[in-house]
Amino acid sequence: MELNDDQKTLQEWVHGFALNVMRPAAHEWDEREETPWPIIAEAAKIGIYGMDFIANAYVDPTGLSMMLALEELAWGDAGICMALMGTTLAVAAIMANGTPEQQMEWIPQCYGTLDDIKLAAFGVSEPDAGSDVSSLRTRALYDEKSDEWVLNGTKTWITNGGIANLHVIVASVDPELGSRGQASFIVPEGTTGIRMGQKFKKMGIRASHTAEVVLEECRVPSANLLGGKEKLDEKLARVREGKKASSQAAMATFEATRPAVGAQALGIARAAYEYALDYSKERKQFGRAIIENQGIAFKLADMKMHIDAARLLVWRASWMAATRKPFLNGEGSMSKLYAGETAVKVTEEAIQILGGYGYVREYPVERWHRDSKIYTIFEGTSEIQRLIIARAISGVHIR
Ligand SMILES: Cc1cc2nc3c(=O)[nH]c(=O)nc-3n(C[C@H](O)[C@H](O)[C@H](O)COP(=O)(O)OP(=O)(O)OC[C@H]3O[C@@H](n4cnc5c(N)ncnc54)[C@H](O)[C@@H]3O)c2cc1C
Repeated sequence: MELNDDQKTLQEWVHGFALNVMRPAAHEWDEREETPWPIIAEAAKIGIYGMDFIANAYVDPTGLSMMLALEELAWGDAGICMALMGTTLAVAAIMANGTPEQQMEWIPQCYGTLDDIKLAAFGVSEPDAGSDVSSLRTRALYDEKSDEWVLNGTKTWITNGGIANLHVIVASVDPELGSRGQASFIVPEGTTGIRMGQKFKKMGIRASHTAEVVLEECRVPSANLLGGKEKLDEKLARVREGKKASSQAAMATFEATRPAVGAQALGIARAAYEYALDYSKERKQFGRAIIENQGIAFKLADMKMHIDAARLLVWRASWMAATRKPFLNGEGSMSKLYAGETAVKVTEEAIQILGGYGYVREYPVERWHRDSKIYTIFEGTSEIQRLIIARAISGVHIR
């Protein structure tokens, strides 16, 4: 249960960046609602944004390094953390579905270079297909003459959508097959037929850009189909014969990233808990520190307990993924569900502990509460996580 020296060093290093660079910038970028390019540049300079960081974190055989780093980054600021990590969603999709050659070619382009920093985006969700990813309307048609794929459709809620150098787009190649008839495509910068739709103004994680992505006769070479055409044709043939497909493009990516989302929620919860604990020892009412009242002290005890429980679920799920243990009980979903709901609850309690000071923008606690709420919505809502767990433990197709 103890972290090794490498993990502790990583945790301290990322914490230093979160404390000294992210925390002081958090309020400004929340108010500006823009991608914090200077902070991303600083992260890249010291090696926190980039391919090596992700590669090093993911080679940890215990699976914990990435979770430690994400908890610290979200502790620093969840919006900036998402601006840094939005790229990782696209990278995870390339890792999950791309050939080794495609991984070598495209992953470095997701991050760019120190002189020319880039972002990437992963587009699955659509206006009429959120939780139900099987009903995607974005179509990919193969044009045999030019050996290209032609994409048409609208993606919505896409992190880094339209400002990314590279988009990974999940589209239907055979709508009759639902999610088994989908594939992922790389749409690099400079491709015609891809543009940003509306940019959303959000409740929280406002330093992270979220927008629609519109695809109109967007043509990409056949080589940009992740996994390659031969593999796709084989998969489609298997599905049409009624055999199981090995994986569903979008779901494979989400499954691998769930504990990582939980780790971010955990970071926000811890930030709010620590702040509320300190505040409760200093704030005096009725001649004593407010923590001396059981009503406040018990809240803090519960906050700490839920945070620790969430961390154990996140670490377990990440360890299971790294050691290739099957998630027989929806353990990945459990980690994201519990950490997300803990973050919402803990940040709300922190506002209560700060009273009026918790409700105003001069203090960070209201921002943490706004930031926390997305963790029960994106990468599978809390209801969808419960559905996955319930199906896994029961074997029943619960609707
Ligand atoms: C800030 C932000 C960033 C995002 N980033 C990305 C991104 O980078 N890429 C991407 O592809 N997507 C992204 N998303 C989309 C996100 O994953 C979806 O919003 C999410 O999956 C929910 O889909 P929806 O919003 O359409 O809600 P809906 O699916 O319409 O759900 C509405 C409500 O119904 C409930 N519900 C739906 N089906 C069931 C059911 N079967 N049983 C019980 N309850 C159910 C849901 O839990 C929810 O409470 C992002 C969203 C936001 C807000």
